[in-house]
Amino acid sequence: MTLDLIKSFVETANNRDCDFPLNNLPFGVCYEKNKQKCFSATAIGDQVLNLTYAEELELIPDLGFKNVLLNAFMSKGPSARKHIREILQELLAENSKKINEVQRCLLPLKNCYNSKAFEILEYTDFYSCKNHALNASKIIRGKNAELSKNWYNLPVAYNGRASSIVITNSDIRRPTGQIYDQDNGIVKFEPTKKLDFELEMGTVIGGNLPIGATLDFEGAENLIFGYVLLNDWSARDIQAWEYQPLGPFLSKSFGTSISPWIITPEALEPFKTKTPERELQLLSHFEDNKAFVFDINLKVTLIEAGGIETDIVETNAKELYYSPVQQVIHHASAGCGISTGDLMGSGTISGTEEGSFGCMLELSWGGKQKIVLSSGKKRDFLHDNDTVVLKGTASAEKYKIGFSSCSGRIIN
Ligand code: CA
Repeated sequence: MTLDLIKSFVETANNRDCDFPLNNLPFGVCYEKNKQKCFSATAIGDQVLNLTYAEELELIPDLGFKNVLLNAFMSKGPSARKHIREILQELLAENSKKINEVQRCLLPLKNCYNSKAFEILEYTDFYSCKNHALNASKIIRGKNAELSKNWYNLPVAYNGRASSIVITNSDIRRPTGQIYDQDNGIVKFEPTKKLDFELEMGTVIGGNLPIGATLDFEGAENLIFGYVLLNDWSARDIQAWEYQPLGPFLSKSFGTSISPWIITPEALEPFKTKTPERELQLLSHFEDNKAFVFDINLKVTLIEAGGIETDIVETNAKELYYSPVQQVIHHASAGCGISTGDLMGSGTISGTEEGSFGCMLELSWGGKQKIVLSSGKKRDFLHDNDTVVLKGTASAEKYKIGFSSCSGRIIN
């Protein structure tokens, strides 16, 4: 893909391997270590631009960055987001006329921690990747298992738990729960032995839809503020016992990790691509002729307690069968209402080949074939002190749009 890098006076932003060129401009919240203070921010090269301060200095218009958390800004919808993007691209341009003023608002990313960017209101987790859903069916029900009929008609989902969503670098405690011991026919209450990660994308909502209202494609697209990487940690043995008939509950509510920066639809616009071929024509309200997914390379690295790293997954966000917009259309279709700060997980993203499966359940085929790590050690599911790192990158020839990373360590 030959797309032009938009050059910035922040030199590091012009580096081909930088996550945050001027083409990206993600939104987030940072905590400055020295001043012990949080602020709204965008990232540029190895720097962050303090949007809360820039707003105070009237370098940018008043869009609610004084609130630090991004909800007020996010609720203003795509016009405000596109407007500030244009202003920031001018302020940070190579030939910016306001370099001195802008420099007052810049500080090194390394002097900050990322903090949660927005108040998360509701969390819904979809199941929108056919490769993953089919593999999971086969692992649970045998190699001839197919997907249920509804799967090809709608993006299956459940209402998840917003309270336990954490950002990158937060530890995840191994949960305890009810597990059915099949060999002895008894139920135990004990720590999960099948702790897993799930490689997903998260869709962040900016804008409100009242209860009872529904969405067409354009309306749903306009409600999407941006995207993050999402790890929907799962306890497979707890899940297997509890999930019938209403779906997962405690096996997925103990922790969900997201990457810190929200990547905008504008940054990802050049990386739109078609959804996979359909087995069945979707009903008209999905407006499938408009559907798109994104060409984003996704990677997962497992880091053992001693620091040895193994890349265990490489896949792509374009493997999603239902696009994020179609997930939002479906979510709204019965009239539940949607709000700024709602988060929707895509479902585990898997490719078709070994090594492209987005969770340990698939990688180890239900625990039957262990993964061999760089150290020579083996894993079927995650051990204590394992760290799982998700990375996402949309690559053009001259620049890339990076999601930074979504990392979490298992503790006991
Ligand atoms: Ca999930």
